[in-house]
Amino acid sequence: MKITSIEAKTMLSHTKRPGPFFGQKYNMNLYRGCMHRCAYCDSRSECYQIEDFDGEVLVKANAIELLRKELAGKRVKGVIGFGSMNDPFMPIEAKLNLAGRALAVIAEFGFPVHIITKSDLVLKDLETIKRIARVYATISFTVTTADDDLASKVEPLAPRPSARFAAMRALADNGIQTGVTMMPILPFIEDNETNIEAIVARAAASGASYILPSMGMSLRDRQRAYYYAELDRHFPGLRERYERTYGERYHCDVPRAKALYAHFEALCESYGVAAQLPLYRPQAAKQLSFLT
Ligand code: SF4
Repeated sequence: MKITSIEAKTMLSHTKRPGPFFGQKYNMNLYRGCMHRCAYCDSRSECYQIEDFDGEVLVKANAIELLRKELAGKRVKGVIGFGSMNDPFMPIEAKLNLAGRALAVIAEFGFPVHIITKSDLVLKDLETIKRIARVYATISFTVTTADDDLASKVEPLAPRPSARFAAMRALADNGIQTGVTMMPILPFIEDNETNIEAIVARAAASGASYILPSMGMSLRDRQRAYYYAELDRHFPGLRERYERTYGERYHCDVPRAKALYAHFEALCESYGVAAQLPLYRPQAAKQLSFLT
């Protein structure tokens, strides 16, 4: 895969109000493109204007310097989220340590953080994450199947779910809040009770405190074309079923979404895992910092 350095103009985008789902006020991307090549990845969509999403990773070479400058000028502390458009802990991170250096700057400025990843490489930054967690840190591992073999088809170059669960265990054992973004659940592939229960059970056994579900996926333009080609390769005949069921639709809920959500919620209750993310509370963080 080609790696290219670019100069970014800004690092942090922000919203007026933190989102209800992840509680993020700021969003950050250190890279453009991703090495994990998940069959369903929405970041391939044309609207994001990443020409060669699977063939080239653009590295924001001035990310750390920019981040430091931008955080120094922020008056409102709010959760910085990263990992929504690419995986900040993809293999190149082992060499560049861009996410690691960004986390060190975030720790220095005392901002809370939410990371989404599929990689156990996040453990290299455990000590920095522990410092950030005095304010608030939560690490969400995306898991769409607990089955390593199935994951090798739908998320071919990402660390296997077993490695993600092991990383979750290590974080939880170190007092870091961690959980699962169980999204997307792929129609006709992952939308069954056995898969949902396996994820909830493994997450609970690995110290997850929350699981955020989405029973379905999005499909549009380039993303759809790539996904359908992967279906043809690994699941012959399934593309036609998608075409019959969803046509040109963007939101593609699994056919039994309602029943699966109900099943998921019952499982969460019996395994003692929350079905929402415990969000950052500025006041609580302030009190906590007095005590530590
Ligand atoms: S890890 Fe995330 S960003 Fe990377 S290819 Fe997979 S879904 Fe896309």
